[in-house]
Amino acid sequence: MPELPEVETVVRDLRPLLTGRTVTAVRRGKRTLRRPWAAAADALVVGATVAGLRRRGKWILVDLAGGQALRVHLGMTGQFTVAPASDPDPDHLHFAFRLDDAGELRFRDPRRFGSVEFCPSAADAAAALDAVMGPEPFGLDPAAFRAAVAGTGRNLKATLLDQAVVAGVGNIYADEACFRARLHPARTGKSLTAAECDRLRVAIEAVLARAIEGRGSTIRDYVGGSGLRGAFQHEHAVYGRTGEPCPGCAAAVECVRLAGRSSHYCPRCQPETPSRLAATRSPRSGARHVGAARSAPRTPRRG
Ligand SMILES: [Zn+2]
Repeated sequence: MPELPEVETVVRDLRPLLTGRTVTAVRRGKRTLRRPWAAAADALVVGATVAGLRRRGKWILVDLAGGQALRVHLGMTGQFTVAPASDPDPDHLHFAFRLDDAGELRFRDPRRFGSVEFCPSAADAAAALDAVMGPEPFGLDPAAFRAAVAGTGRNLKATLLDQAVVAGVGNIYADEACFRARLHPARTGKSLTAAECDRLRVAIEAVLARAIEGRGSTIRDYVGGSGLRGAFQHEHAVYGRTGEPCPGCAAAVECVRLAGRSSHYCPRCQPETPSRLAATRSPRSGARHVGAARSAPRTPRRG
C-alpha cells in the first residue's frame, strides 16, 4: 500500500508534467471508487488549469487555478500517472483527464480502495485533511512527538500507524523506523524513555527521506507519476523479510501481528524489554543486552 514516500514520488513526478496544463476532456469508468465523483464535476474540471500539486500525509491535492482541487488517494493499488494520450487504456482505468498537450492524466486502481474527488474549494479540502491529521514527519517538534508517543499505552506499531500522531507512515515504514531506532514494535509508547522517543523520531525522518530518494517501495502495483516502479523495497531491512538475516546482526527477522498488521523486527537488535529495565535484570540477561547494543543495526546504503 502506498505510504508517504510513494505518494511524495507521485507528486514530484507529476508536478512538472501537470502544472500549467489545462484539462480538455474527462472520461470516467463505470465502476465506483471508495469515494464518489459528482457527475456535475465533469463540466467544472474541463477547462481548468492545474496550478500545482501538494501532498498531505498519503493524500494528493491537485490545485486548480480557479481555487478548486482534485483530492486523490491511492488506496491499496492506485496508480496516478501521466501517459501519452495515444497509449491504449490500461485495465482498471477509472479516470482519464485529457490535457492540452499530448498527455493524459490517468487513475488506475485494480482494488478500488483509492479515490479521486472534485473539491469546490482547495482551501476547504486542505483544512479537512489538517483537521484529522497530525504533523508531517519532516521537522517534527521533539517535545510534541515525545508527548504524543509517551502519552499512550498503545504499542509503537499502532502509534505510528495513527495518522493523528504523524502523517504518512504506514505498515512498511513503521517497521523500518522501529528497526532503525532499535525499538521493538510491541513496546508501548509510555515505556519509552525520552531518548528512545527522540531516536524513533529521527529514525522515522531518516527512513522516509531515504525511501523518497529510492522513489518509494514497489511491493505490487505501486508506480510513480511517470509510471516507473520504486526501488526502496530492495533496501528494506526487516519489512517482508521474515526468516531472513537481519542486516545488522544476522539474526533471523521475526514477524508478529500488531494492530492487525504483520510487523517485522529483529529479536536481537530490537529487544522487547525496555533497556532501562534490562539494566536491573540478571547478569546473564544483562550480558545479552550488551551484545544486542554492540550489534546495533546498520542500514544498508547504496553508492
Ligand atoms: Zn539484528
